[in-house]
Formats: sequence, structure tokens, C-alpha cells
Amino acid sequence: MSFSQLGLSPELLRALEDAGYQTPSPIQSKAIPACLEGRDVLAAAQTGTGKTAGFTLPILERLSRQPRSGKRPVRALILTPTRELAAQIGESVEKYGVHLSPRLKSDVVYGGVKVNPQITRLRDGVDILVACPGRLLDLVGQKAVRLDEVETLVLDEADRMLDMGFIHDIKKILRLVPGKRQNLLFSATFSKEIRELAGTLLNDPVSIDV
Ligand code: AMP
Repeated sequence: MSFSQLGLSPELLRALEDAGYQTPSPIQSKAIPACLEGRDVLAAAQTGTGKTAGFTLPILERLSRQPRSGKRPVRALILTPTRELAAQIGESVEKYGVHLSPRLKSDVVYGGVKVNPQITRLRDGVDILVACPGRLLDLVGQKAVRLDEVETLVLDEADRMLDMGFIHDIKKILRLVPGKRQNLLFSATFSKEIRELAGTLLNDPVSIDV
């Protein structure tokens, strides 16, 4: 299996070449085609499996096929528990999207830092937003960002988000995104709570266990 067989554009393949990736990891081989088809995905994946590229590459591919101009609405929302993870995912989005033309805009927002610079950055619009749930809700409350045009929602490290008490924030966010959307849920472990969340969130998901 090679990346070029997965349905990714030459611009994304070039970025993968730059990164020195030769073959897709097992989760990437399964998740990328399913995400590109628009399917919901439920993936059991630890850090280190290449899961980040598993969801960021198809998001970049799908959004770049239908670019928007002007003030861009958030079209892909990636929720993650910690600022470190959010920053890492944001770097991956930038790295893999570097050769796309036009470029997609991405941003990362998390708490514990000043909100005003985030509000200013969001003003021009952003296609892909990586966010920790609490700060995202703050920003929505301050009308700095709207989520009513989200096409793909990712819950990354969903088990850690629940362990950290983010379930209420996640439920609030689910009320702010359109009902018709693609959902991708990644979790290292599958407790009763995660299975319940997956049951309410996902529509006929492709299950991936690597
Ligand atoms: P992740 O599990 O998404 O945190 O990725 C773990 C590490 O593997 C990151 O440093 C990635 O840059 C790297 N990586 C992801 N996919 C591949 C691949 N197909 N080939 C080589 N390295 C990869």
C-alpha cells in the first residue's frame, strides 16, 4: 500500500514526501479512504500510530477540493484535550497542507493564554480549527467564531477528554455544529462512557482497530 493509492492529491503527496513518510501506517491505510468517502469513523488508536495524519490528510483533501474564499467559516473542527496535543495537530495541519494552492487556513485555540489575540486571529476566518473544548466555548460565547458550517468534527483522544471532565463542554459544542456532518472519533480506550458518546455521535461508522 502506498500513499498515492489512498486518493490524496499530488500536493499532499509532495508534503508526505517532504516529511519522509514512505508508506501509510495501518490506521492511515484504513482511516484515510473512509474519511475521504465522507464516512463516520470510530478508531481505536494510541499516540504514535500516525492517527493525526489519519484524520488531517483527508480533511485537507476534502476541503481543498472545494475551496472557499473571503471570510471563511470553520469547516473542520478538531477537538483535543490538551494544549500540547492541539499545538501538535496544528503543526501537522500546516506541514501537510503546505503545498496546497490556494492554502487552507488553520488555527489552534486553547486556554491558559490571553483570549484577545485568538479573537483577532479568528476575525479573518479559518477553515480548520484545532481547539480545546473550554476555550472554544469561550470564543463562541464572545462571538469570535461560529460553528454552524462545520462539515467534519473530530474528537481526538476522546477518552482523555472525558477523563478531564470535558463531556459537558463537548455536548454543548455538539449543539452548535450542524446536524449533518462527518464525525471522526479517536480514542485509545473504550469505556462505557466512550461507547455511549460514540453511539450518540456516530452514524453508521467504519470501525478501525489497529
Ligand atoms: P501520531 O500517532 O499521529 O502522533 O504520529 C506519530 C509520529 O509518527 C509523528 O511524529 C508523525 O510525524 C509520524 N508519522 C505519521 N505517519 C507516518 C508515516 N506514514 N510514516 C512515517 N512516520 C509517520
